[in-house]
Amino acid sequence: MPRRKKCRWVSLELPSKIEGEIEISADELEAIRLADVEGLSQTEAAKLMGISQPTFHRILKEARRKIGKALIEGLNIRVVGGEHIMRRFRCFDCGHEWEEPFGTGRPEACPKCGSPNIHRIDAGRGKGGGGGGRGRGWCGGRGRLE
Ligand SMILES: [Zn+2]
Repeated sequence: MPRRKKCRWVSLELPSKIEGEIEISADELEAIRLADVEGLSQTEAAKLMGISQPTFHRILKEARRKIGKALIEGLNIRVVGGEHIMRRFRCFDCGHEWEEPFGTGRPEACPKCGSPNIHRIDAGRGKGGGGGGRGRGWCGGRGRLE
């Protein structure tokens, strides 16, 4: 039997243009990524971020509220407060490895040899200075945690 499309009522107006912006913290964005994009459970995601599950839940809830608000009100989303989260890159031509703070955009080329053949190698993990580094490489072929 063909599935019948049922009408639904929504009472919203789509924003006609993008105006204004809302700030979302890097932690909140990471919570969305782990829970909604990667599909991890809150327990797993909290563990990866090194925080408790209730804290993760709070961060995730706030992140979803902000993203919802941005969609409904047509706001740009600006990621802030990611200075303590470092990203690690490697040049596949000269082997040089370096770190860039989160939120600065992807580097164009290797700072040492100028090759564009660079890749991110941390998969978003590890906090600069904090000695985190746990869970490195779980992005491709996610293994069991602990
Ligand atoms: Zn290089």
